[in-house]
Amino acid sequence: MKLILILFFLLLPFVSKADNVILMIGDGMGTNHLACAQQTKPIFIPSLPVKGTIHTRSANSETTDSAASATAYACGTKTNNLSLGKLPNQENCVTLAEKAIQHGLSVGIYSTDHSTGATPSAFYAHTTNRHDKETIEQYKQSATQTMDIVVPVDKISDIVPTKLQYLSNKSDKNGFFALFEGAKIDTASHHNNLNDMKTELYDFDLAVMHATDFVYYHPNTTLIVLADHETGGLTADCQYTRTGHTGVDVPVHAYGQHAHLFRGEQDNTDIHHKINQILFSSGK
Ligand SMILES: [Zn+2]
Repeated sequence: MKLILILFFLLLPFVSKADNVILMIGDGMGTNHLACAQQTKPIFIPSLPVKGTIHTRSANSETTDSAASATAYACGTKTNNLSLGKLPNQENCVTLAEKAIQHGLSVGIYSTDHSTGATPSAFYAHTTNRHDKETIEQYKQSATQTMDIVVPVDKISDIVPTKLQYLSNKSDKNGFFALFEGAKIDTASHHNNLNDMKTELYDFDLAVMHATDFVYYHPNTTLIVLADHETGGLTADCQYTRTGHTGVDVPVHAYGQHAHLFRGEQDNTDIHHKINQILFSSGK
């Protein structure tokens, strides 16, 4: 009996599963986007157990764009607007997705954005100009050799269950990093179209619900749901006040093994450091 116990504890590190992180980005999804969608029909995201807020400013502006914000999440450093996977001094930074590949994890990146959209691209491309489609396309082609990248997908909710199962099977003992983006919450908000914004948000919300199911059955997983910035200056009474982004704090919700790390107020670069800690530090 004693021997069996000793063997059990000796072997425990080898059977315990590595950590998975699922990062879900609602582009432009501020606090009032959630509240206004909630007024029409109940949504799931606010019921996630851990809540916090994120400061979003970029290196050179109070009001970030999606490129600089996604780079802050991907690399842990604030950079200038328009930059993808680049530091303000124009050096390339190593993204979470690239580091995950180096450590033998599986990586999946999925978005409703167009083929060279800023948020997914910040995780595998390196350019100071988010509109340089040719360069981004080249980086994307080369990244697909190691990462599962589907950009654009039609409906983000459709692919979450199959892609999480795929990454889970593929990652075996090393864990995975998955990014899902609902890009058109931002697009609809740029157009000040409240109905379209809600339609996009409901689909993103359904995607989050599917991801939560996965986490429930795979408790070695942490789910983080956040935005990159607010779009449209949406007020509490659901009026858009501008067509661009704003610099207000955005909400973060989390669930799963290390969800508690995301409670309270934090900077967008902190999100990176926390995910980095979950995926790559052994003594957590
Ligand atoms: Zn935008």
